[in-house]
Amino acid sequence: MNSRLSSYLSRLLVDRRGGYRRDVLRRFDALRDFDCLSRHDIDMHVSRELAQVLNFAREHVSFYMDRIPPDISEENALAMLPQLPMLTKQDVQQSLHELCVKDIERFEDATGGSSGVPTIFYTDLERKKAGEASTYWSNGLAGFDYGDRVAMLWGSDRDCRPETIDQRLEGRDRDCSSNRRGCEPLGDARSGVPRVQFAQIKAVARNMIENVRWYNAFDMGENRMHDFHAGLLNFKPHVLVAYAGSLYEYAKFLNIHSLKPQYPLKSIVSSAEVLTPAMRKSVERVFERPIFDRYGNREFGPIAAECEAHAGLHINEHDMLVEIDSPDPYEIPGEIIVTYFRNRVMPFVRYNTGDIGVFAKGECACGRKTKKLKTIDGRTSDSIRTKDGKLIHGEYFTHLMYGVEGVKAFQFVQEAMDAYVLRVVCCPQIAQMYTDPWIESVKGCVGGNGNVRVEIVDEIPLLPSGKRKFTLSLVDHGL
Ligand SMILES: [Zn+2]
Repeated sequence: MNSRLSSYLSRLLVDRRGGYRRDVLRRFDALRDFDCLSRHDIDMHVSRELAQVLNFAREHVSFYMDRIPPDISEENALAMLPQLPMLTKQDVQQSLHELCVKDIERFEDATGGSSGVPTIFYTDLERKKAGEASTYWSNGLAGFDYGDRVAMLWGSDRDCRPETIDQRLEGRDRDCSSNRRGCEPLGDARSGVPRVQFAQIKAVARNMIENVRWYNAFDMGENRMHDFHAGLLNFKPHVLVAYAGSLYEYAKFLNIHSLKPQYPLKSIVSSAEVLTPAMRKSVERVFERPIFDRYGNREFGPIAAECEAHAGLHINEHDMLVEIDSPDPYEIPGEIIVTYFRNRVMPFVRYNTGDIGVFAKGECACGRKTKKLKTIDGRTSDSIRTKDGKLIHGEYFTHLMYGVEGVKAFQFVQEAMDAYVLRVVCCPQIAQMYTDPWIESVKGCVGGNGNVRVEIVDEIPLLPSGKRKFTLSLVDHGL
């Protein structure tokens, strides 16, 4: 569909209820305007938002009542922040309900993150709108205009869930009176259409109107990639958004088969894991289009995005404050800490993302005055290549664990070509409940003949490098 027609129809037909679409687009405009502010005005905005969220957290969130002092103002908020305790994923796991405000409508979500520590958290409508606007903004830095055709080489939650897991979660959601998939209703009881089916039909219609097509990064065998190429040649996306690892694998496939991609028309956005200089070079050579790296997570959506200067990632300071936990955050990498301004139902104050980064020095050649991240580390996982040639992105296993309360950590290991072990740190009740569905789900993905077992362990060991990977392949594929 033509970009202008999609833009017109999206404004007219998608998420209009309660002015939702209008609010998202207003925020998108605000983010673009924010990019034109002086450093002084950005600092004023950050101080004001920071003071508001800290005071709100102290007054309304029991977890923070004794952790945040009462005398915070716009003038002293930035100076006070480093004295406040950090929020860890373990804090969120252990104190989820003390971190939430009860009288705000909330939606359950979950993250596996780069560390393989599944964590449930809550979002509100404002967070949802801000996240969508931030996605448009980050794509905008890569040349995207609202209505442009976007191809997503990405994974979908539903592709990795056996019915048994979904049924258990649906049951739990009803008990909690919350909807873990956000604010979309899951069906229409009056029409008799099953709730999940109704949501799927709605999602397909929405993707058509919004000019978005999905290509499953959890299923990238040779034949599938030939299909992707044919589909993309036909669709002609302006922007291709992909996991860095999937993008690299797909570019290699095109190169090996001497296939010339005449897409995307504008640019490629790489996200969710580390894009190395070698990967960037090889992908740009195949597609002959620039890559724009993006950093984000499930909790906050896009956090930082690369501009046309390709010299670091601009932080979305309109919606959050980013710190680096390091004695010299411009020289020595440290953990990326985020205080998020847009989620009143569960304020994140000094949240340790588990990722490692360092700030970029100096002003950007593009003229934007927002702070930049120079490098981000920690977003690594191995892809799994199965005996029959299927390639599965590591994020599949993160999605498998979404929403399973009680899993403290996990790691998926391919020990041999058709032997797999899923190591999980959890209590015996969770193990008993989920072991069979996990095995069923993984077998469905890697192939029925794979030998899959689940091991319940006390901890996930670190690699010799000191890092922890949530997917690991011990098989030398000779790639
Ligand atoms: Zn820039």
